[in-house]
Amino acid sequence: MTRVGVLALQGDFREHLNILDSLGVSTVTVKKPEQLGEVDALVIPGGESTTIGKMATRFGLIEPLRESIESGQPTFGTCAGMILLAGAVTEGDQPLIGALDVLVRRNAFGRQNESFEADLDVEGLDETFHAVFIRAPWVEKAGSDVEVLANVADHPVMVRQGNILASSFHPELTGDNRIHHMLLEMV
Ligand code: GLN
Repeated sequence: MTRVGVLALQGDFREHLNILDSLGVSTVTVKKPEQLGEVDALVIPGGESTTIGKMATRFGLIEPLRESIESGQPTFGTCAGMILLAGAVTEGDQPLIGALDVLVRRNAFGRQNESFEADLDVEGLDETFHAVFIRAPWVEKAGSDVEVLANVADHPVMVRQGNILASSFHPELTGDNRIHHMLLEMV
């Protein structure tokens, strides 16, 4: 049976565990570097990217995460998880895994649009996906290996680069498991 790990340092990892359960895979909460080798795919949840990054640094996870992703581990980051995967953020300095060749703008939709929902056209899905954005980032700049799967107002909000999938929104919150299913198809 496919084993999917969810990085469980901070943020909404429980919602990811639940939606993965609905896909009939076995799930593991990941907190230690040695667990990365025991799963077939990894989810990095939303939350606060600075907090998750600090904790990952403290637990010695940043390098092992980068290595396992660069060696081909299918990995899906949502919101703060997308930020952690990125190579750079537009402002400030924070620990990043840096495996995904994008520049990300945190809290990009501004105060007016802190939280919003939108029906998105997502490359690879037949019907629109109801997406929930919460203090979401967008992709400001992407490298040539990065495929854009969805946009909001011309800003990429879902991307794929080889074994890495990332979304600015929270597909774990709406009970629609099609995007998690995309991750499983990468295993
Ligand atoms: N704004 C958060 C950050 O910058 C991300 C929000 C989220 O994951 N819902 O880390």
